[in-house]
Amino acid sequence: MISSLNYQRLVYRYGRCLVLILIACTLGCRASQILFPEIDPGDENWLTRESAHFYIHCRPNSEAEEDMEEIAAYLDQKFTQICEILDVEYENKISYFIYSSAEDLKKNVSQETWGFAVGEYEAIGYFYPTMRQYDSRLGGLGHEVVHIIVYWTMGVRELHFLDEGIADAIDKYSLQWSRPPVLWAHWRAALVMKRGNLLSISQLSDNKFFRDLRYNRELYHTYYLYDQCGSFVRYLIDRYGIEKFKRFFPAAKEDSYQAAFQNVYGLSIHDFEEDWHEFLQDYLTSGPSNPSTSEVWHP
Ligand SMILES: [Zn+2]
Repeated sequence: MISSLNYQRLVYRYGRCLVLILIACTLGCRASQILFPEIDPGDENWLTRESAHFYIHCRPNSEAEEDMEEIAAYLDQKFTQICEILDVEYENKISYFIYSSAEDLKKNVSQETWGFAVGEYEAIGYFYPTMRQYDSRLGGLGHEVVHIIVYWTMGVRELHFLDEGIADAIDKYSLQWSRPPVLWAHWRAALVMKRGNLLSISQLSDNKFFRDLRYNRELYHTYYLYDQCGSFVRYLIDRYGIEKFKRFFPAAKEDSYQAAFQNVYGLSIHDFEEDWHEFLQDYLTSGPSNPSTSEVWHP
């Protein structure tokens, strides 16, 4: 049984595909050229490897091509973990374009970005990092995958901070730091709070404010912006479960997210925010307050 939400998306998806194919035929070019025309038109310099859940595209003779088996195994394992945590099924394959470097991506993409996910095309653009990201060189490749799966199973994002929060929380679900281990996102959010830089939910819920911070590299790191969002979402999911979050996410609009929160969780988002602050206050000294949930996803 297809829900009306998914039905609309299917119509939209295949409608757009049809238009793209027609354009491709008219121009006499390959459809792969215009997978995401708003962002990267006309780039054909890709090799493709199909894995269980992805079409992985990389530059010929690049390091990513050399490491393709490892990348494919990592992405497939991430995909499975994301679907398990969100408790969703996702049947299509995602197109993952791995540019050779951050410079390669910047040069070929017509907007300021470090990586992107285009939900309606099930396409991701990212670059092959030159160094370790969080736990490994491949750490971070899963973030955009969460965006695509969320888009098709939970709904189109209204609040950017919730979308980045769920991507951060799930991509780093098992990621721990220090001894005794603490969860990465909570650890970073607790540090930010200690420094007096934790943003309020009212500030984070202003999409323009959020976007401006996100594209300012210096401020982004000052606030550990995505990690504080990730901590908030992780705490919310650990306390009340993924199903409630799946209802809250698409209903949380800029002008009515407080009412949506009250409706789904039966309490004020600002009371929950205070609760989260208290949790962070204790976090660095007492460690995870809910170790049983955290232990489920140890790698
Ligand atoms: Zn993101």
